[in-house]
Formats: sequence, C-alpha cells, structure tokens
Amino acid sequence: MVAKVVPVDSFDLVVFGATGDLSRRKLIPALYRRMADGQIPDTARIIGAARSDMDVQAFRNMAAEALDRFVPPEELDQSIRDRFLSCIDYLALDVTKEAGWADLRSLLSDDGRPCAYYLSVAPRFFGVIADGIRKAGLVNDMTRIVVEKPLGRDLASAQELNNQLSQCFSEQKIYRIDHYLGKETVQNLMALRFANALFEPLWNARYIDHVQITAAEKVGIEGRGPYYDNVGAMRDMVQNHLLQLLCLTAMEPPSHFAPDAVRDEKLKVLRALEPLTDPADIVRGQYRKDSIGGSYLEEAENPDSRTESFVALKAGISNWRWSGVPFYLRTGKRLRSRVSEIAIRFKDIPHSIFSGPQTATKPNILAIRLQPDEGITLSMTVKDPGQGGMRLTDTDLDMSFAESLTHSGARLPDAYERLVMDVIRGDQTLFMRGDEVEAAWAWIDPIIQANSSIRPVQYDSGSSGPEDALMLLHRDGRRWREISA
Ligand code: NAD
Repeated sequence: MVAKVVPVDSFDLVVFGATGDLSRRKLIPALYRRMADGQIPDTARIIGAARSDMDVQAFRNMAAEALDRFVPPEELDQSIRDRFLSCIDYLALDVTKEAGWADLRSLLSDDGRPCAYYLSVAPRFFGVIADGIRKAGLVNDMTRIVVEKPLGRDLASAQELNNQLSQCFSEQKIYRIDHYLGKETVQNLMALRFANALFEPLWNARYIDHVQITAAEKVGIEGRGPYYDNVGAMRDMVQNHLLQLLCLTAMEPPSHFAPDAVRDEKLKVLRALEPLTDPADIVRGQYRKDSIGGSYLEEAENPDSRTESFVALKAGISNWRWSGVPFYLRTGKRLRSRVSEIAIRFKDIPHSIFSGPQTATKPNILAIRLQPDEGITLSMTVKDPGQGGMRLTDTDLDMSFAESLTHSGARLPDAYERLVMDVIRGDQTLFMRGDEVEAAWAWIDPIIQANSSIRPVQYDSGSSGPEDALMLLHRDGRRWREISA
C-alpha cells in the first residue's frame, strides 16, 4: 500500500523526550525554520511531552533558549519566533506510568489532521510509548510514529523493536529516521542517477573501478565514553548510515519515485551483500591520546575495551551490476577532519593516445560530499589551457548547489527540516522500512561476532586512521581519498 500523501495544512506533532538534547538541538530549530519558510501554519500544535514537571510557559522558555542557541541570529525573526512559541504546548508525562495519557488525548486536535508522535527518547521506551498511544485510542489513519537510531544492537533486538512497534502501528505509519537520508546531496544522488542519461549507462562493474564511502569525525567519544563503548563504530555508523549510502549508490532504478519502490530496491542491495568472512577485509581501530584529549581507552573508562572507534572494510555486492566492484567503507572518530562523502572511482581509460611530457591521465571520480560544503564534483582530465602542445591536467566539474543557492538568497535545509515535514506529509521515501533495518543487521551481526573479542589496532588522533586501513586498499593497488575538509 502506498502511504497517503497530504499537503501540510495543519498538524499535531507530539515530541516525547522534548526536553532532551535531540529535541532542543535539532527538532525545535528545524520546526522553527520550516515555519519561517512558510511551511508550518499558525494552527499547527507542537506538544512537548517529557518526564520533567514543568508548565507550558517553562517549556516555551526552554524552546526559546534552544532557538537562541541553535539558530543563527540572522535567521531569527522576533515575530516568527513568537508565533512559533505560541504553537507549543507541554505535557509532563512519565511514559512508564498509566496516568497522563488521557491528558495527552485532550491536548490533541480532533479535526482529522495528521498527528505525528516523535519518539526522541531511549529505545527502551519505544514499546511502552507505542502501547500508551494505542491504549489511549489515538491510532487512526492520520497517525505517524517516528523513531531514531539506535534501532536495535543486533538482529534479534531489531526484530523485537519492530515487533513492539508493529503490534500498535502498521508499517505505513512507522518512520525510522536516518538523518543522512535527509541530506540534500543524498537526494541529489538519486536525481543525478535517475534524471540524467549520462551516468546510468556507466553505473556498473564495466566502468566503475570501486566506490569509497567515508564518514570521518574530528570529535572523539568524550562525555559519553561508557555509552559509546557499549556500541562502537560498526553499530553506530556502519549498520545504518554507511549501509544506507551504499544502498542508494548501488540500487537498481526503482520503477517510480515512491516509498516502497525505492525501499524495495535498497533491500535487494542489502540482501545481495556478500558475507564478510575474510579477516583481512576489515580493520578496527582505537585512537591514541593526543593534545586534544585522552586515548579511546581512557575516554571509554575501560582499559581493556575491544570496542572500535574506527572501522574500514571492503564489501562486495553479488549481482550482475556490481560483481567484482569493491565498496570500501570507512568511519572513525578523532580523525583529521569532519568529512562525509561517497566517491565513485571510474576505471582508467583503456588506451592513451597522448605521449610526451604531462600527458598522464587520471581516472574520473564522482564525489558526492555530504559534509562539510554539500555538493557534487566530477574530476575530469582536460587540456592544460595555454600550455604549448597537448599537455593534460585535471579539473573538477563542480555541480555544487550550495553556492548557487546562497547566491540566490536561499539556504540548504537541515536534514531534520526535510524529514520532519516528510513525516507530516506522509511520505516514507527517505525512511527505512523494518525489513531494511533487519537485513542490515543480518549482514553486520556475523562481522561483529567474529571481531568483537579482537583487540582493535591503535591509530593517531588527527590522522586518517590506522596503517592497516591504508593497506586494505594498497594491497588492491588502490588508495583512499584524502580526509580533508
Ligand atoms: P536525552 O537523554 O537528552 O533526552 C531524553 C528525553 O527523554 C528527556 O526529555 C527526558 O525527559 C525523556 N524521558 C526519559 N525518561 C522518560 C520517561 N520515563 N517518561 C517520559 N520522558 C522520559 O536524549 P537525546 O540525546 O535527546 O536522545 C533521544 C533519542 O534520540 C535516543 O534514542 C538517542 O539515541 C536518539 N538520538 C539522539 C541524537 C542526538 O543528537 N542527541 C542523535 C541521533 C539519535
């Protein structure tokens, strides 16, 4: 069944965990911006629900502080800010208790508008909140429920979570957020592939040498060490964000741009991933102490930790399109720069007609940059202008839109802005379906089981990761792209 898509007239949005970090740092600013863009009418209701015993005014003050802190002053308009705050309500509700759910019901509108419940709380509350909404008689055709990572820590717990949600909501009502999918550039990857004749004929093992997907962070785990130590980079980044990017890069063209058509194709990619059984195809690392902070082991407060803060791996996809094309994935903390990108490295030309000085050709690389500076570049070999004879050089065809948008006075929306409005509109295209999440865990689980007792190698903070990660590509005659912002 295709999800019902409705224009955003008005809506109710209930944010469970509204006093928490995610709500204040991301959701409240995203909603404000959408109101400033004219997408949220004054009649919308944003209802914060959390354990803290405070009244509406105290919560509005908290929301106002979040705007002042997380929205740049030049984007804040006093009258829009006031209108936005007047849309806000608050309910003190301990979701583990029976009491309070009837009060939630009385805060909701009864005019048939969409009502979204955003579960910005720890996953152990997902089941109890889903049940509370159902028991309060609040599930109807216009209900949507939004959940965030972590969606399980292995296949069994992900299935359990899916079961808890599906007992109360049909799959068409469940929105599993992966904020990487809300990035403009990631959506542009689909436009690039499927709205142009140029790339798709080349998008296969015949013309593509390999793909690199990188999500490098500069920060370490400081402040949340013991929590992170129970998770690690495989669960925190690879299972969700990196595999989602891999799916969008590798999937077959869907028959149309509709939620299940896209998600069916992503699922096929996950199911075609080759089991990663060769230990040489995975590198796990932990960062060393440096001038910025302690070592991973110190910050994890676990001197014997085997949890990885860095992973590099070589994945393969068993299908006609991708057979023999490695997908190298890499993610880590305390690396040189904060960079996320997908790089498609095309094959070398079969034969060069040029000879003489400065005639080496370089392979084309299509780089899709998610952060910083979202944009897309295609490296090309061209004639070095002005040079005598046929001398070659390489240049980037810049398909960035950030700059052109800025020049036209527009701005790139944050991923949460896009995703929250998609929820309200009832468009699930950029959200993970339950079977996708399970298929990703089914691939990741054996990798974690085979490696979790092995001590990760150490790497220097501020570097591009462990030596072994460089070797992962060197041994295939390839090299990683520089991690540079
Ligand atoms: P947080 O600890 O800052 O906030 C938790 C919220 O849950 C608070 O509002 C608290 O009042 C509420 N809460 C706790 N127990 C409750 C109860 N019994 N009844 C009602 N409310 C209760 O957490 P956070 O960082 O905002 O993260 C929320 C969720 O989003 C987590 O699952 C987290 O993994 C996920 N997430 C967070 C981020 C982020 O950037 N913070 C990013 C991705 C995913």
